[in-house]
Amino acid sequence: ARILQISSKLKSTWYSSSSFSSSLPTVKLFIDGKFVESKSDKWIDIHNPATNEVIGRVPQATKAEMDAAVASCKRAFPAWADTSVLSRQQVLLRYQQLIKENLKEIAKLITLEQGKTLADAEGDVFRGLQVVEHACSVTSLMLGETMPSITKDMDLYSYRLPLGVCAGIAPFNFPAMIPLWMFPMAMVCGNTFLMKPSERVPGATMLLAKLLQDSGAPDGTLNIIHGQHEAVNFICDHLDIKAISFVGSNQAGEYIFERGSRHGKRVQANMGAKNHGVVMPDANKENTLNQLVGAAFGAAGQRCMALSTAILVGEAKKWLPELVERAKNLRVNAGDQPGADLGPLITPQAKERVCNLIDSGAKEGASILLDGRKIKVKGYENGNFVGPTIISDVKPNMTCYKEEIFGPVLVVLETETLDEAIKIVNDNPYGNGTAIFTTNGATARKYSHLVDVGQVGVNVPIPVPLPMFSFTGSRSSFRGDTNFYGKQGIQFYTQLKTITSQWKEEDATLSSPAVVMPT
Ligand code: NAD
Repeated sequence: ARILQISSKLKSTWYSSSSFSSSLPTVKLFIDGKFVESKSDKWIDIHNPATNEVIGRVPQATKAEMDAAVASCKRAFPAWADTSVLSRQQVLLRYQQLIKENLKEIAKLITLEQGKTLADAEGDVFRGLQVVEHACSVTSLMLGETMPSITKDMDLYSYRLPLGVCAGIAPFNFPAMIPLWMFPMAMVCGNTFLMKPSERVPGATMLLAKLLQDSGAPDGTLNIIHGQHEAVNFICDHLDIKAISFVGSNQAGEYIFERGSRHGKRVQANMGAKNHGVVMPDANKENTLNQLVGAAFGAAGQRCMALSTAILVGEAKKWLPELVERAKNLRVNAGDQPGADLGPLITPQAKERVCNLIDSGAKEGASILLDGRKIKVKGYENGNFVGPTIISDVKPNMTCYKEEIFGPVLVVLETETLDEAIKIVNDNPYGNGTAIFTTNGATARKYSHLVDVGQVGVNVPIPVPLPMFSFTGSRSSFRGDTNFYGKQGIQFYTQLKTITSQWKEEDATLSSPAVVMPT
């Protein structure tokens, strides 16, 4: 009932009262332009992370349903690929307007299913919206190349053409932004798309599908299935699917990259992270401490670009007590409560995992300067809350340093020099994001050049590139050749066709076969 209140305007399209064994709302599939109830006998409960109440159920789509979804994408492809690029652009222009108009509705649903604060959920939608706006530039982005007169009367030119049916597999932590990294870019290029949202947070994708339909996307251009491993294996193996976009953990991403590639698909996989913030003693202290605290604990640390590791260089180690004070002042509460700075973790298992990693720090000789393990949130005693936690005296061989924690935990290392800090960052297998805090341009330049990480912030704690650039995590944080969105996103979702053409005015019929390569 709570969900229905939250999104009454669009409810009939994505959650319906279930006919299946309980009165819980169920999430529909989106197949061939219709929101349909799954016939599956396997369902997954969706919880509100702030209370752990079950708020709905999502089906594990049956093989027949998944087959129907791909068949629908395949049927819709030729006409959509042939639709003029200006018409596809018009659909996306209407879409960005509808997302803007419904941004708060989508955000409420994200807070309910995912737990993040409402303000942060609005940011989640907004950053996805920016990719839709970028996709509207398709008329420039998809241009091919030309070279006239490569020889007499002969011209050479290339087209960027869609691949066919593409698929996306999304994580739980950005229920709107990450699906919006995928299907708008693919579809504006003329592909059709099969989306599998995270089974923990499927609602935002369903709302986004409804809005896309209302924007004029023809039936079958976007299909949505739900599920876990079986759905993922289905996508990796299906020969009609030409490309897979994946965002999530390394465990799933490496597997999907390998299995999808084995079946001849393009795969791009954005995966886990351990992002270091290097704090130089000449940094603007006030800004740096606020930025570190915001980037470590915002979204309860459940961002792939969360700044989860601080390296305090030289005298900057003296700032540790003030860092702790600022972190202590953050307000932990259910995401829909006014003033909440961070909400709960996604599941009780995630909470347990994070607490175990904090325990491991204590056992392996680190100091727990701020301990959020025992936090109680009034009125939400059953929620998956962990308060801001700071672990200092951390060494690179400790478990809490080596593993991605994905919770509101900042681990702190100390070095005497910038060079030592750079070595630590470069020895870490992940290469997603990093930031340096300094007022010295030469230091910033040295760090940006020497650090082997895909996305570097200079006095910017979470340097996620805007969509005219691409999301460029590297090393263990990424598998594939071309990144998400920006020009690279267009490259990923298109293939080149080059045409060499000769038109002569005079009659130049060949008098004999040309059997040697032209020179
Ligand atoms: P996850 O890997 O558990 O789930 C992602 C998707 O993969 C889901 O749709 C899920 O159904 C599927 N999946 C899960 N386990 C699978 C398995 N063993 N085999 C096949 N499919 C599987 O990830 P999550 O917990 O939803 O998201 C958190 C992770 O995502 C973190 O590691 C975070 O760093 C990463 N992430 C990375 C980026 C990035 O851009 N680099 C962005 C957001 C999140």
